[in-house]
Amino acid sequence: MRLTTGFIPTVKETPTEAVIPSHKLMIRAGMIRMLSAGIYSFLPLGYRVMKKVSEIVREEMDAIGGQELHLPALSPRELWEQTGRVKAFGETLFHLRNRPLVLAPTHEEVICWIAKNHISSYRDLPQIWYQIQTKFRNEPRPRSGVLRGRQFLMKDSYSLDGSWEGLDRSYDLHDKAYRKIFERCGLRFFIVGASSGAMGGSKSQEFMMESEAGEDVIAISEDGSYAANLEIASSVVSPAGAAKDSAALKEVHTPNIRTIDQVATFLKVGHTHLAKSLAYEADGQPILVLMLGNDELNEAKLNGVVGEECHPIDPERLKDLTGADPGSIGPVGLKKFRILADKRLEGAKGLVSGANKNDYHLANIDLERDCNVEGYFDFRTVMEGEDAPDGSGKLRIVKGVELGHIFKLGTKYSDALGATFLNEDGRAQSIIMGSYGIGIERIIACHIEQNHDEFGIVWDKGIAPFQAHLILVGAKNREVNEAAEEIYSLLLEEKIEVLFDDRHDISPGFKFKDADLLGMPYQIIVGEKNFSNGKIEIKERRTGSRELVEKNQILSRIKELLST
Ligand code: ATP
Ligand code: MG
Repeated sequence: MRLTTGFIPTVKETPTEAVIPSHKLMIRAGMIRMLSAGIYSFLPLGYRVMKKVSEIVREEMDAIGGQELHLPALSPRELWEQTGRVKAFGETLFHLRNRPLVLAPTHEEVICWIAKNHISSYRDLPQIWYQIQTKFRNEPRPRSGVLRGRQFLMKDSYSLDGSWEGLDRSYDLHDKAYRKIFERCGLRFFIVGASSGAMGGSKSQEFMMESEAGEDVIAISEDGSYAANLEIASSVVSPAGAAKDSAALKEVHTPNIRTIDQVATFLKVGHTHLAKSLAYEADGQPILVLMLGNDELNEAKLNGVVGEECHPIDPERLKDLTGADPGSIGPVGLKKFRILADKRLEGAKGLVSGANKNDYHLANIDLERDCNVEGYFDFRTVMEGEDAPDGSGKLRIVKGVELGHIFKLGTKYSDALGATFLNEDGRAQSIIMGSYGIGIERIIACHIEQNHDEFGIVWDKGIAPFQAHLILVGAKNREVNEAAEEIYSLLLEEKIEVLFDDRHDISPGFKFKDADLLGMPYQIIVGEKNFSNGKIEIKERRTGSRELVEKNQILSRIKELLST
């Protein structure tokens, strides 16, 4: 492609609407333009990358026996009602006004519909079907460019199996394919096992990239072998301090002492002897959660244990129930509450906690003896620097972006839509499904997040829009001009993807800046000075290293570089 005739509208200034590097650079490099919030046009350069990523995904999906199909983006709302997902997606689902149709945010329902109508016997299974298709989701705050769009391209695949072992196989195949895809796209990723309760599956795994732009918070160990969403992450922590003997309960006057730190200082006791009481309610039932010292309660874990959304009790209702304000409540003698404790408190004696009487605390609490604790659970929010539960080092808390997701769905959707098959005994059985997604634009944006510098994008060869950027410097010199044209033809003949900056009225400095911004792996610079000695310069974008090559060696040298 020639820059004189091509459409690559680069921009010098940083676009004001963009916050994260990939968004800024994709606009500046003329890859994308925003049409409306979360809706982007891919211009020629961007579309080249989109096609490359799609092709890598296709190759790896085909390699595990996936069959590509193409499903409609519009689908009947009724299907989504049958699976309960009109409600589950809520505001995220786009509805049409003039027909009972929705714009599909994913395709489990449609796949199930096809399976229900066209798979009848165990002989038709297993199947892996995939597509690379536009998805629509009314994301509430799309502000990270194509990383989170309201319309985006997804590779989604679905496995249909007749047995649970079959599902394990299909899932493992996807796991392997996904690793290859991300490696070939030049991404550093880590894998997070997720709880999949909400979607009714038995196992799921997210492929993630560490990034400030991420919306998930992850606890990850030094070598990355332990990585878990903060909502479920755990760590190795010591239990609460336990006094040797159980002394008698003692009420102590603690005027105006509310926080754990104040209690510790006032009573001169360590945090491991303090129990913090937090009051919640779920469906009208008051719940007291006991945490050790300043340990932070993880509400997602609490919700998981209770099996319902828990909300903090408002202070007035709390006072009605306990007779005390939030800083003075405690587990001893508490009525009407379920009492749940963090597992760090199991067996704790000699504890201090609120006395359910403002300005008083109780000392020498023996949880077994004095309180009606229903159970001990892991409620803690993991902290930076704690030890990973699998012994793989200290934990860091990082933000992550989800690149892909693989999911054992089981029979949730096939049950809901009645997608069954006749097994070998001639009995009807629900098809066992898996679903697997990858965001194509997200791969591109994440690649740029990980591969850029102050000057621009630094593409990996695997997905670069062009392999080489040929730059003509000193266009007024006829010989130099001819040499550049000749190299261009030669590269094209050899099917090397080359972008040719053949512009005559642009200064060399400007051309070099553009080349660094666009980020092709190799720049081939045909300039007057070197050319007078019969030499052409090659610059590697990633390292900035330069070499001079004889003009007639340029093709073989570029080929050599591209093959490494
Ligand atoms: P997130 O938590 O980031 O919203 P998700 O859990 O909604 O992701 P899935 O429904 O599992 O994502 O979709 C599969 C893949 O599609 C994701 O792993 C991601 O790569 C991509 N994806 C999801 N939502 C978007 C979006 N709004 N824009 C671009 N890609 C997306
Ligand atoms: Mg989402």
